[in-house]
Amino acid sequence: MTRYFVRLDDACPSMRHERWQRVLDSLDRHGVHPMIGVIPSNQDPVTMTSPADPAFWDKVRAREEMGDSIALHGFNHCCDSESGGINPVHQRSEFAGLTLDEQKTKIREGFRILTDNGLHPEFFFAPSHTFDATTLTALREETPIRNVCDTVALRPYTRDGFLFIPQQMGRFRNVKVPGYWVVCYHPTFMTDAEIEAFDAFLSSHRGQFGDFSELTGRTWKSKSPRDRLLQRMYFIIRKLR
Ligand SMILES: [Zn+2]
Repeated sequence: MTRYFVRLDDACPSMRHERWQRVLDSLDRHGVHPMIGVIPSNQDPVTMTSPADPAFWDKVRAREEMGDSIALHGFNHCCDSESGGINPVHQRSEFAGLTLDEQKTKIREGFRILTDNGLHPEFFFAPSHTFDATTLTALREETPIRNVCDTVALRPYTRDGFLFIPQQMGRFRNVKVPGYWVVCYHPTFMTDAEIEAFDAFLSSHRGQFGDFSELTGRTWKSKSPRDRLLQRMYFIIRKLR
């Protein structure tokens, strides 16, 4: 069975609203609920492309009420550390390599900003996909969040009290391997052609898309030997590139 899930990264008041709206409209037309990663206090100029929308928080709250999943996506999105942590997709991080106190402050403040704005984040994923064991401790001590959407695997697994949901692709591909495929998009940077291709894939793969609540609503085992091997191979190949 192949199931696809959509993760949208870098929601913030200064995102490129017109692009986001087109992506969300496309998902709505196809009845797909994405996970929206919200940056609580964005200070990363790369992801701030428009004047701040005063209605941003109302709009995200409405998306959550419609059934979208909300993720805490870091705190300020600034990757000042050069560590890759335990999911070293990049050698830079907002979290990996920082002290527990530093990470707890970011997690606590980020979670507070989201909840003060009426959101109920149940997921976490870090800027640049990078975090470490200390990030998990900070999440455990400062929030009720127990779902992390960033790992290389074919299916979700549990570890250290967290559900790890894979995130494998940056655009839709027709996958032949059965599994749970989470595809992340950055709507702010999508071109017209990419939005059209996005919409076309949703049409042609109707019925194969899932909502994240279907993953958190069931019991998962620990990581399989096949996924352990896959993860090792993935990072070896990435290093060689
Ligand atoms: Zn991001």
